[in-house]
Amino acid sequence: MTVTLDFAALKTDSSTRRGLSDLSLSVAKCKKIVVVTGAGISCSSGIPDFRSSDGLYALVKEKYPDVVLKGRDLFDASLFRDPTSTAVFHTFIAQLKQSIDAAAPGPTHHFLQLLDSKNKLLRSYTQNIDGLEARAGLLGSASDEAKSNGKGKRSATCSYTGDIHRVRCRSCSAEYPCTPEHISQFIEGLAPDCPECLERAEARIARSARTIKVGSLRPAIVLYDEPHPLGDDIGIIQSADLARKPDMLIIMGTSLKVHGFKKLVKEFAKTVHSVAPSSPSKAKPWLGKVVFVNRTPPAAEWAGIIDYHVVADTDTWVERVIEDWKKMRPSDWEVQQTLVVKDGDVSMNGNFKVVTSTKNKTKVTKDTKKKPRKNEENVPPPPTAMVVSPDVPPKATSTSTPPLSPSKRRHGNSHYTPESSPSKRRALVASPMKGLEPTDRKLLFTKKAGDVEMDLYDGMGDLSMRSPPKPKPPQRAGRAVRA
Ligand SMILES: [Zn+2]
Repeated sequence: MTVTLDFAALKTDSSTRRGLSDLSLSVAKCKKIVVVTGAGISCSSGIPDFRSSDGLYALVKEKYPDVVLKGRDLFDASLFRDPTSTAVFHTFIAQLKQSIDAAAPGPTHHFLQLLDSKNKLLRSYTQNIDGLEARAGLLGSASDEAKSNGKGKRSATCSYTGDIHRVRCRSCSAEYPCTPEHISQFIEGLAPDCPECLERAEARIARSARTIKVGSLRPAIVLYDEPHPLGDDIGIIQSADLARKPDMLIIMGTSLKVHGFKKLVKEFAKTVHSVAPSSPSKAKPWLGKVVFVNRTPPAAEWAGIIDYHVVADTDTWVERVIEDWKKMRPSDWEVQQTLVVKDGDVSMNGNFKVVTSTKNKTKVTKDTKKKPRKNEENVPPPPTAMVVSPDVPPKATSTSTPPLSPSKRRHGNSHYTPESSPSKRRALVASPMKGLEPTDRKLLFTKKAGDVEMDLYDGMGDLSMRSPPKPKPPQRAGRAVRA
């Protein structure tokens, strides 16, 4: 059963107050929180509402008065078949990016960063393309992690819908940050040439070889009916996160209509519930809660999955959580101050409980700077370290699997699979059955029959997953072991 906690009843209802306090305590005490977010967390940042008639659609309409394109058509992979709809798409995304660039992260984005800075965030999964978490200081993206194969920093966010701040070559898949120059071309409906393709083409011309087609750059967001370029890697990250047994799941600002996202939430909810105490009176009652923060209630199918529905704006709720948390565990908030005055004479400062601070300091050090275990210098940091197999407990994996050499790792896990080389890709196109197992290029986001509602963020995920995002870990394990 889902318990409803309505902020409107906060003043009059003591059980609501108690319920909300319990949730705040959970946030303050849990250490492996998974957060799933949607468009709702960016509302207060003024990210335009795609459904509103005077929003971006109107601007596009002004530029292309004769073009009839309904919302969803603007985000369907088939738009690239037609030069006009491609131009409209480019203009639309350029304007959208300008709106996003002008926006600032809101309290909920900062809350995510706060959880991460206090070593509580296992991962933030988002349906949003705005990247405002990163602007709030939440470092790293899943694509960076996937590409670095564990050598880079752990990514705190994982976007299901791509990144509007990047562009990708439609031909060779090379990716670049989206620059003002790109935007000025996109806004005119044009597409910049891919520098990598250009270089390759010029090199061929220089040695009198047959010239090749130069690909054009497109915004690196994931469209309907289009495989996520990092689909497999996202699946791996997800499996690794599940294996780490998250202790709390917070779903914010999404109505959970998206098939792929629903599946993600259900899997995490199951794992989170498995760490909950069997009865509330048992030890650690704060563990294992699934919280849904949204103005509208969850659909009936979520009964038994969502434990608490907090009826509030996400900003309102996170602000209350922080307020409660500061009261409940003031020591969590002294740490940073203590660290700041570390070089000074801490004992002289009467405001600090030196003992508590030291304890917390030790904790922070332990969490963030784990000493490498013997013979593991080369093992990538978690969670990618656990990528090898989600069924094997993390520790067993990291001790039983020999470290991969960087070249092998790159070969095994890279996003730049056969598709990244134009020649190989051509071969794949020519004989798709030969080059690629059908299961290898699963569509992460595909159109779901009957979904016609246009709701960009939720809609993009109507973009639903036809097949599970979990990317055949055993196969990868095999590869890793052989390596
Ligand atoms: Zn290219």
